[in-house]
Amino acid sequence: MSDFDAIVVGIGSMGSSTLYHLAQRRKKVLGIEQFGIPHELGSYHGESRIIRLAYYEDPSYVPLLKRAYELWFLLQNQVKAELLCITGSLDIDRIDGSVFKGSLTSCLTHNIVHEVLDAKEISSRFPGYELPSDYYGLYQPDGGFLFPEKCVEAYKNMAIMMGADVKVNERVKSWKSERGKVIVTTDKDVYRADKIVFTSGAWTQNLLSDTSEILNVERQVVGWFTPENDNVFKPELFPVFNAKFEEGRYYGFPITGTPGFKVGRYHHLGQIVDPDFEKSEITVEDELILRSAVSNYFPKANGDVISLKSCMFTNTSDEHFILDRVPGYGNVFLAAGFSGHGFKFSSVVGEIMADLVTYGKTKHDINMFRVDRF
Ligand SMILES: Cc1cc2nc3c(=O)[nH]c(=O)nc-3n(C[C@H](O)[C@H](O)[C@H](O)COP(=O)(O)OP(=O)(O)OC[C@H]3O[C@@H](n4cnc5c(N)ncnc54)[C@H](O)[C@@H]3O)c2cc1C
Repeated sequence: MSDFDAIVVGIGSMGSSTLYHLAQRRKKVLGIEQFGIPHELGSYHGESRIIRLAYYEDPSYVPLLKRAYELWFLLQNQVKAELLCITGSLDIDRIDGSVFKGSLTSCLTHNIVHEVLDAKEISSRFPGYELPSDYYGLYQPDGGFLFPEKCVEAYKNMAIMMGADVKVNERVKSWKSERGKVIVTTDKDVYRADKIVFTSGAWTQNLLSDTSEILNVERQVVGWFTPENDNVFKPELFPVFNAKFEEGRYYGFPITGTPGFKVGRYHHLGQIVDPDFEKSEITVEDELILRSAVSNYFPKANGDVISLKSCMFTNTSDEHFILDRVPGYGNVFLAAGFSGHGFKFSSVVGEIMADLVTYGKTKHDINMFRVDRF
């Protein structure tokens, strides 16, 4: 049986970065992924993930976001490929709404450059947007989007270059902790390590049964719509957005890759699913939910649908992450419950998990991500 310093279970968003940061510290590390890398069956596919500093969810995320940006730029330089596209970001809401107020609070608390624009100013600067007159946008110039499949591959490739071992198309079936070691059994082999990190996304409950009480897996759908005029939806003229509309909380992207305006609604239809069976049919309702925001606020993109794809959120009840040791074990760690807003953090989450594995602690403030809060 091969012996490792650490095994990382699940080489997706968080696992690829954790593997990289451990390999960089010269750890003998093994990553195990049940599918290929990248793949379209988890939580990171779909060509784009928003990154933004103006964090309406909670200002305490901002220091982590600043470090996440640094690490993304570093990775981009290392692999000499575009991983990040800066477009600016707009957080759109009524002036007293939680998205607008939360975003403004983050900017004021952390001295982040921003502008407040009314609906008219937004349309004249960014003509793809056509918002009702009582809506405002907090514009933050550092916002943009990551290319998630490329990011995951880049971290995985760099980790391998630094000595990490990666097994793909191999599923972890069970694990146990015995006399200070962990033994991991897959559908192909058995491995032993001093420590283990679970970055298994929507499948975490299968491997850590206690988490089934605190995590739920939710189906999402994003759509790409044909604009009447591509130019206004190009990255130069269309900042990424988060918007709280009457119809729900939506997010969207300029055209990149798939030729269309990409839009999604948080918690889409609220459907809890089993990750092993989540390649459900896309329905007319899926399209209508997305089209309602497109037709009302982005009418220049209200053409035929080009593509609709499903994906999964793994939610905690407070929508904050879990970054911690697994209770009852000194050598078992967990990064999970990213609740639909985790990808942008994956660069820094990998650093945090590698800190926990290496030193048992991290300089980052992760107090709000403790598992015992539930
Ligand atoms: C539609 C959609 C839009 C989103 N938009 C944004 C956004 O704009 N910005 C943002 O920051 N975040 C966004 N998110 C959230 C973000 O993508 C997720 O929070 C993040 O990808 C979760 O990462 P993860 O590592 O937990 O899961 P994943 O990236 O899915 O990785 C888990 C990996 O573990 C593997 N695995 C699981 N079990 C096993 C096993 N037993 N053996 C081996 N391998 C295993 C899986 O195959 C998978 O590859 C979005 C999510 C969705 C679905």
